[in-house]
Amino acid sequence: NKTVPSDIDIAQTASMAPISEIAAGAGLTNEDIEMYGQFKAKIKFETINRLKTAKDGKLILVTSINPTPAGEGKSTVTVGLADALKASGKNSMVALREPSLGPVMGVKGGATGGGYAQVLPMEDINLHFTGDIHAITTANNALAAFIDNHIHQGNEQQIDPRRIIWKRVMDMNDRALRQIVIGLGGPARGVPREDGFDITVASEIMAVLCLSSDLHDLKNRLSNIVIAYTYQGEPVTVADLDVQGALSLLLKDALKPNLVQTLEQTPALIHGGPFANIAHGCNSVLATKTALKLADYVVTESGFGADLGAEKFLNIKTRTTEKHPDAVVIVATVRALKMHGGKSKKELVNEDTQALKAGLTNLKKHIETIQEFGLPVVVAINKFHTDSDAEINILESFCKSEQVPFSLTEVWEKGGNGGIDLAAKVIEAIENPGHFSYLYNLDLPIKEKINTIVRKVYGGSEAVFSKKAEAQIQQFESYGWGALPICMAKTQYSLSDDPSQYGRPEGFKVTIREIVPKLGAGFLVALTGDVMTMPGLPKKPAAQNMDVTDDGKGIGLF
Ligand code: ADP
Repeated sequence: NKTVPSDIDIAQTASMAPISEIAAGAGLTNEDIEMYGQFKAKIKFETINRLKTAKDGKLILVTSINPTPAGEGKSTVTVGLADALKASGKNSMVALREPSLGPVMGVKGGATGGGYAQVLPMEDINLHFTGDIHAITTANNALAAFIDNHIHQGNEQQIDPRRIIWKRVMDMNDRALRQIVIGLGGPARGVPREDGFDITVASEIMAVLCLSSDLHDLKNRLSNIVIAYTYQGEPVTVADLDVQGALSLLLKDALKPNLVQTLEQTPALIHGGPFANIAHGCNSVLATKTALKLADYVVTESGFGADLGAEKFLNIKTRTTEKHPDAVVIVATVRALKMHGGKSKKELVNEDTQALKAGLTNLKKHIETIQEFGLPVVVAINKFHTDSDAEINILESFCKSEQVPFSLTEVWEKGGNGGIDLAAKVIEAIENPGHFSYLYNLDLPIKEKINTIVRKVYGGSEAVFSKKAEAQIQQFESYGWGALPICMAKTQYSLSDDPSQYGRPEGFKVTIREIVPKLGAGFLVALTGDVMTMPGLPKKPAAQNMDVTDDGKGIGLF
């Protein structure tokens, strides 16, 4: 039970290398980067273009079992694995999402890894970083202003103010803004209508930025965003308002990947952070592609568990990067598996081999899913000091019986040195490449694509569609939108659409409530249950533990 200092204490006492040194380690000169202070930089577009002909490294995707309030440590293992590869003499890099301020101030705290496996400068990354998220907020709200102005100025496009689907955003959890009325106060103050705020990471512009391969592609995708419907029910896009140029201009720097470093000075690209429910939930395509050109091994992460994040990484992002992962690491913890076996969070400190055994079904399903995609799997057991030897033995024996390579990982406690075995297992797995295939072809009807995900990834019996979803599917197929991939918006806590169903529920149906077109991002969102696009703050927000000293040192970002 060695005591490890808090995440922020470790981060604040770490010594960072100047970012130009980190860049040099990745084969970049000062000409290739734009400095944002001493420890952050953006990679220039010229550099990204120049690298296009370089050979790609290997891509390792880190995912997990269904997350529980016990915490799995996916980011921690992602960072730790990149450090472990470096410590094993490999040229490695990590590509991660950037945290949203909403969850940072709410329940989650920081999202830059933990213990001795973190990315730095931790405070900057968790707060305003290089301003990308603010730029996205501005572009999103500029578009909202252009829409209301268009209506005020005579509404040439015949936009039905009751059918505007573009919302305003801010990067904070603020439930009071979920539904609002705007334009009150007479003709000088616009046309009154209902509106609402989402959190910035739920903006389609975030998804667009993360899937764009360059500025040209960004502008194209922005043009395609559907913002409203006319009185006749026809879609209105950004191109109809002719503001894609202005929005691209606002986003031109935000599109460049951000270079930082891990505690062990492994280069890290942290860029973009779309929601993993109504969007695809992983860092930008540009960051992943750039990292692949610079390193032999790139470790990246997808949001939530393998049923949501990895499924979307593989069925959505991979179609854009044209590079599938060479291996997938599934992070599991004894604690979370005991919750899947029926225990509550406060019971987890006690040894409970029965609950652990019962919870293994959840891990088994996710292993099967990744194998269904044809990819090699390695299970990373993220060790907590409360895990008993008997519990670890059970988890290891399970992996042996499933014939899946596994590694007990101690990167949280020991940094890269705690993941040497995991790195070796991953390299070994990559040497026996699988035969990757998408789970569905894009030309299948929308309903069949959704049913494929429900059956093959969730293990359910079928999808059932509300009347509204049925009508939308018909309408969207008639608009020619039927060949897009599906972005499922489902609870992260369960394989089913019921968050209370832990473990491996079976025989369940998944209800599709509504389909939302995201033509800029290039997918159709299928909403199951109530998906929160503007979270609220908890009774005691993490913000209450935060402070700053008189000399500017942050406190309480854990
Ligand atoms: P995720 O990416 O799954 O949300 P993180 O990697 O962000 O999880 O970790 C969440 C929190 O759990 C962090 O504060 C981290 O320090 C802590 N944590 C992760 N792994 C361990 C571990 N093995 N032991 C103790 N705490 C851990």
